[in-house]
Amino acid sequence: MPRYDFRCRSCGATFELRRPMAQAGDPAVCPQGHEDTVKLLSTVAVTGAAGAQQAPAGGGGGGCCGGGCCG
Ligand SMILES: [Zn+2]
Repeated sequence: MPRYDFRCRSCGATFELRRPMAQAGDPAVCPQGHEDTVKLLSTVAVTGAAGAQQAPAGGGGGGCCGGGCCG
């Protein structure tokens, strides 16, 4: 069963609930009893899985001949 994170806007507490996906959008009640809560986005594996797009190191060594400043 998926787990959802919520944050209470009344007391600032975060908490998580397990509930069927069919009820994912239902309002959640804070453990303290507040009803003013928002559902947080899932935090599953957000760290650095995307492909790195680093420029290749050690280029040609030309400084400024690419943009017309050498003319
Ligand atoms: Zn609360």
